[in-house]
Amino acid sequence: MVNNIWNQFLTLIRQEAGSRVVETWFKAITFSKWDVSTSTAYLQAPNKFIKDWVRQHYTHLIRQHLARLLNVEAITIIIHDSRTIEENHEEHKVSHDIVIMPAKRAVPQTGLSRAGGYPHQSYLFNTFVVGPNNSLAYAAAQAVAQKPGTLYNPFFLYGGSGLGKTHLLHAIENEMKGSYPKMTVLYQTADRFVNEFINAIRLDQLRKFQAKYRSIDVLLIDDIQFISNKEQTQEAFFHIFNTLYYAHKQIVFSSDAFPQNLAGIAERLKSRMAWGLVADVCAPTVETKIAIVQKKAELSNIALSDNVAHFIATSAEHNIRELEGALVRVMAFASLTHQPITLELAQSVLVRSPNLEQKSVTVEAVVKCVGKYYSYTLAQLKSKNRSKQLSFARQVAMFLLKEKAHVSLRDIGIYMGGRDHSTVVHAVHRIAQHARLHNEFQSQLKQIEQEIIRLAIQ
Ligand code: ADP
Ligand code: MG
Repeated sequence: MVNNIWNQFLTLIRQEAGSRVVETWFKAITFSKWDVSTSTAYLQAPNKFIKDWVRQHYTHLIRQHLARLLNVEAITIIIHDSRTIEENHEEHKVSHDIVIMPAKRAVPQTGLSRAGGYPHQSYLFNTFVVGPNNSLAYAAAQAVAQKPGTLYNPFFLYGGSGLGKTHLLHAIENEMKGSYPKMTVLYQTADRFVNEFINAIRLDQLRKFQAKYRSIDVLLIDDIQFISNKEQTQEAFFHIFNTLYYAHKQIVFSSDAFPQNLAGIAERLKSRMAWGLVADVCAPTVETKIAIVQKKAELSNIALSDNVAHFIATSAEHNIRELEGALVRVMAFASLTHQPITLELAQSVLVRSPNLEQKSVTVEAVVKCVGKYYSYTLAQLKSKNRSKQLSFARQVAMFLLKEKAHVSLRDIGIYMGGRDHSTVVHAVHRIAQHARLHNEFQSQLKQIEQEIIRLAIQ
């Protein structure tokens, strides 16, 4: 029974967090025992590194999904690694590993939500590496956490993806929860704010919604660009902003663009966002990237030599999320294969991925994955049948043949049952546009792509 549950769990995690997370972390874990009487799930990790990583990053997901799959309200999760058992520190470890949380609260409001809801205990000021690219943002965030509502209000933080905005917002949140325990501090992503607002309308609970937001001492809204073109939400937010602002409550925004450059947001809101301090985070310099790699390794209790840190720092592009991903792949690989982290090992892990992805994606793999996803055979995809669903799947196949297998438009036409060039151009264009306009489809496309890449790597 536990195996079955664990497999269902893996499927959910794959959808929510992607195949890479499953392959790197969860495949290594076994669900060893389920104790019904105490609602305790015992998981087994192969070593301490994996145990700590999973605990630190995925406890929330594990609790949430296992509780649901096992149909219990509160669940206790205990993760052991083999050493925990060998050393017989069971009692000490167990108390340390226990996490209890009512399952009810863990169920997200809108299906599987990724970012925003998880408490990020590791996003602190002292785990943030300061460099010339982010020093103003960092200093301002600290000042805001120390003296909320007085110095920089609102505080508007903007910059590209993966450059530390969410980290700083959570750092403010975490710091304030420690130093001002009585204050109500709320971190919310703008898209969850939108959903909450929509639900409030639907359930006729607008008053409650407004009251909640108006009673907050510090409001941190991440990725504010997501309220663009949502006029009614903007209207509601405008009033919340005014109430908080004039009551000297702190408001912090993060965004991918400078306030005035935000498209689809009402002028009066944009101007208010720039009333306080606007600071940006930029791409880090090499030195900062090296320092970040070293800091992250240190936080996982792993020592990296300078040449390895330098190699990892320069192998990823400017985005820090990618940088972290590269480091994690190296650490995971070393840990799973019981090897020390050397420059050669880091090179073998990192150098191959991008090229491999492109080279070994075959035409067959693409069509197979698309066919499987939409439940059509290869013959159907190539056929002249133009039912709506089938045509759509066929267009997805053409799009992915171009994007992932890099086949020429002419050859795609030939392969897909002798269709002409303009049909392929139309298909590629249509799918690209559809993906831009529909988030849900975009994530379906991602899933198919991940499956294709998985086939390629095998
Ligand atoms: P954004 O919200 O800007 O897209 P995040 O805050 O999610 O980016 O950052 C992506 C990852 O990079 C996070 O894991 C974060 O901890 C890490 N990160 C970003 N900047 C720094 C930094 N200066 N020091 C340490 N870690 C950082
Ligand atoms: Mg973010």
